[in-house]
Amino acid sequence: MPEVETLRRGLEASVRGARIEAVKVLWPPFVNASRPLLDAVVAGHRIGAIRRRGKALIFDLDHDWHLLVHLKMTGQVVVRRHGQPVVFGGHPTANIVGPMPNTWTRAVFTLSAGRMLYINDQRKFARVRVVTTETLAADPFFLHMGPEALGPGFTLAVFRQRLARYRSAPIKAALLDQATVAGIGNIYADECLHLARIHPRQPTASVTAAALRRLHRAIRVILRDAVAHCGTSFPAFIRDGRHHDTWLDRARLFGREGQPCRVCGTPIERTRVAGRGTNFCPHCQPVAAAPAPGRPSAGRRERHSSE
Ligand SMILES: [Zn+2]
Repeated sequence: MPEVETLRRGLEASVRGARIEAVKVLWPPFVNASRPLLDAVVAGHRIGAIRRRGKALIFDLDHDWHLLVHLKMTGQVVVRRHGQPVVFGGHPTANIVGPMPNTWTRAVFTLSAGRMLYINDQRKFARVRVVTTETLAADPFFLHMGPEALGPGFTLAVFRQRLARYRSAPIKAALLDQATVAGIGNIYADECLHLARIHPRQPTASVTAAALRRLHRAIRVILRDAVAHCGTSFPAFIRDGRHHDTWLDRARLFGREGQPCRVCGTPIERTRVAGRGTNFCPHCQPVAAAPAPGRPSAGRRERHSSE
């Protein structure tokens, strides 16, 4: 999510208010709209706000239509003005700053004031959908999505309630489920669990109330920090033509397998949890003992004592 939020901010600064002069689709399945629909509701219209829900980008047009962009694993968005890169984001590959369009370019939007917007996708999973406000509101993808991790709806009470349907599933699997909270990917789940000192494999129902409070806070701290440092996107991320540092240099676990934990010095270990590569510190993130069956869990005891 931080990478997509960084891209969203760059797009707001560079293409909001731009008039779409032409749309060229280079791989037809990429866009769900027919040529006549594109000519009627996209070409000739202005881009309003650019919003984000989870990892999806929503371009509001100047009437009740929207471009819904799912970048998936390998999608990229590139904006150039008079041929010079202004904003780019999504899957980091070296040719993102090379000539455009390239062999992965799926759609090209010609915008006013010499701007071009390219959407590329290496593996053909990314999609653009042209939708009405009504369709967007009823989209099951958004209806089932949990609150935004950095939004006002993500309270400790809501987090606790969303986790209640998990019993023995690892806490990391619950965090990666976008129905729990929107916008936490694999790397960030690891970082949040490290800051909260919870083992990624800890059964969700056995996480104590105190640990859950730490995790809720850790999610906000880690994601805010990542957005402020442009996520993991690129060593030299360009936004508004300026270079920015990335959050990679600050990560606690990402890419640091075998290196000392920044807190305790123990080598970071790598394992698999919920089918995903997972880094953790065996010292800072011990597995808490599962509560004995039929006895109150540590979490419940703790809640009773604090209420
Ligand atoms: Zn440690």
